[in-house]
Amino acid sequence: MNQQKHSLYSQIPAIDRLLQQPAIAQQINHHGQHLVVSALRHLQAEARKIIAKQNCLPVWNACWDTKLADYLQQKLRNSLTPVFNLTGTVLHTNLGRALLAESAIEAINSTMRNAVTLEYDLEGAERGHRDNGISQLLCDLTGAEAACIVNNNAAAVLLMLATLAPGKEVIVSRGELVEIGGAFRIPDVMQQAGCQLIEVGTTNRTHLHDYQQAITEDTGLLMKVHTSNYAIQGFSKSVNETELVEIAKKNHLPVVVDLGSGSLVDLQQFGLPAEPMPQPLIAAGIDLISFSGDKLLGGPQAGIIIGKKKWIDKIQQHPLKRALRVGKLTLATLDATLRLYLQPDKLQQQLPTLQLLTKSQAEIREIADKLKIKLQAHYADHFIVQSEPCLSQIGSGSLPIDRLPSYALTFQAKDGRGSHIETLAQRWRHASIPIIGRIQEGKLWLDLRCLTDEALFLEQIYQ
Ligand SMILES: *Cc1c(COP(=O)(O)O)cnc(C)c1O
Repeated sequence: MNQQKHSLYSQIPAIDRLLQQPAIAQQINHHGQHLVVSALRHLQAEARKIIAKQNCLPVWNACWDTKLADYLQQKLRNSLTPVFNLTGTVLHTNLGRALLAESAIEAINSTMRNAVTLEYDLEGAERGHRDNGISQLLCDLTGAEAACIVNNNAAAVLLMLATLAPGKEVIVSRGELVEIGGAFRIPDVMQQAGCQLIEVGTTNRTHLHDYQQAITEDTGLLMKVHTSNYAIQGFSKSVNETELVEIAKKNHLPVVVDLGSGSLVDLQQFGLPAEPMPQPLIAAGIDLISFSGDKLLGGPQAGIIIGKKKWIDKIQQHPLKRALRVGKLTLATLDATLRLYLQPDKLQQQLPTLQLLTKSQAEIREIADKLKIKLQAHYADHFIVQSEPCLSQIGSGSLPIDRLPSYALTFQAKDGRGSHIETLAQRWRHASIPIIGRIQEGKLWLDLRCLTDEALFLEQIYQ
């Protein structure tokens, strides 16, 4: 080792000496000896690496106390950290989809702090089933005979297929062989469930006789999948559920529908695009319908299966149900969310998803114009800050072609360099509450539809 490097290594302070620094000793009061010492060892190793690679001391060798404080802060920060979702996608899968209603948050708190009637029937003082309470509520809301709750809609589809048609053929239209982000593909799920997929029709057109002709003695099920994240337009034809139920009945076969998002209320009453509802499908005689808890329903991640009691009973007894069941926290929040639907007139006020989706462009613009003035002053040196109209997306594969008029703050580098925009986006991603926008047409866009706390947002900017 050369002389110079040797002298650099010797300038890394020893642990004993570091522990004598008052600011570092104070960290021990906060976090205990063990964590602080192991953090210091880690930083010593980091310093040695820097010397080996760059032949110089790390800049922070002069201020170990602040380096340690930063390191500990990062290490102790939860890996799930709140962010400002200003991406323009309301139900953003990577950002956790629906925000829960206050009553759901209260329910989760009390469920965490107390013993609860998860599988306990107070009437009979005996063992109950964990899905019973919600099942009754779902039946009241949808007209179904029974219901069952699992981890997510992907699990719901898997379980319906594995229970109703193991080793059998399942007939699906070619136009409905969807892939949902994150590796959910109908053909793959089919295979995992032990079913054989029989594709009928063409990509754009499937007729009733296509299903009819595909039915054999090996057929176990007819299935319809809602094409959540795309739309086939133009010369297209699909078979509606009522027609499908008719031929299924003639052939003594069940029909299931993967509804994707599904909405328990008619969204058009709120000025939103129509999304299919489970109620008319139940009325039409569909055997089972599944949908997600954290899409338009506005609840926690969950898969909801509703339909005929004889099938739900069979699903409840399938060994996969035990593996895919949900915990008490999910049940508590889903229950509280569904209960809001008993008072539909108050839904818009109480369900954050609906609140965000129904914000008017004028309302969002007012916030954008107000914030623009503050941000223009703050960023005057490097960026052109404007408020501009934009279009939000509902997200999570709901209503793919319908957009919601919104307003955004946009940032453009004064010298036109894209790298400045990247740097700005990165700085915001590292704020204590990260701000997530999107870059488009050489500008950084912050769609303000989902901004609910302007003061907290400004705090991150001024940090
Ligand atoms: C979203 C979606 C799924 C997957 O639902 P998760 O709750 O994310 O598992 C399955 N099918 C359709 C049609 C969907 O839209």
